[in-house]
Amino acid sequence: MDKIAQLKELNTKWLTECTCKLRTTAMQGVPGDGNANAEIIFIGEAPGAREDKEGQPFVGAAGKFLAEMLMDINMKREDVYITNIVKYRPPENRDPSPTEITACAPWLAEEIKLIEPTLIVLLGRHAMNHFLPNKKISAEHGVVSVLPLFGKLQYFLPLYHPAAALYNGSLRATLKDDFKKIPSILKNITRGKQCN
Ligand code: URA
Repeated sequence: MDKIAQLKELNTKWLTECTCKLRTTAMQGVPGDGNANAEIIFIGEAPGAREDKEGQPFVGAAGKFLAEMLMDINMKREDVYITNIVKYRPPENRDPSPTEITACAPWLAEEIKLIEPTLIVLLGRHAMNHFLPNKKISAEHGVVSVLPLFGKLQYFLPLYHPAAALYNGSLRATLKDDFKKIPSILKNITRGKQCN
């Protein structure tokens, strides 16, 4: 079975097996979306109202902004994989709780293990703190971290969340600048891997 079919199977399985309590209030689960062979996984916080209705991540205003920034670096949504740490919409878009994050964590882990991305881009502090606990997004945005994950060294790039940056001029400019670093980061990681 190729990765596309495996990813489809994985997401179908978790849509029935995930134990997250948000299942009782959300309209539906929102699995990750995009390229099963992607070099980059973008990880956000949790679905919002539009995502809850459509069953797809980042399809609202923040998703439109994300798509624009991808275009700026000559990439499309279909080139990458986009997912969230929590797969169900928290009521009133509140922050996901640690219990909800823990309940959805094995689903996210399986997505990452299957796709084996070169780079994981962490959108916002919730996604960042899942992998880089105790770090501050104000200090870590745009800075690459390398950490062991699932038995190998994984490159992470934390960025401000597009929803937070959307209506804040200075965060927006910072996010756009950080985002433009992605192609060279990817190139440098790939070069490094070839040397090893
Ligand atoms: N914000 C997120 O973190 N995820 C989405 O899917 C949409 C908005």
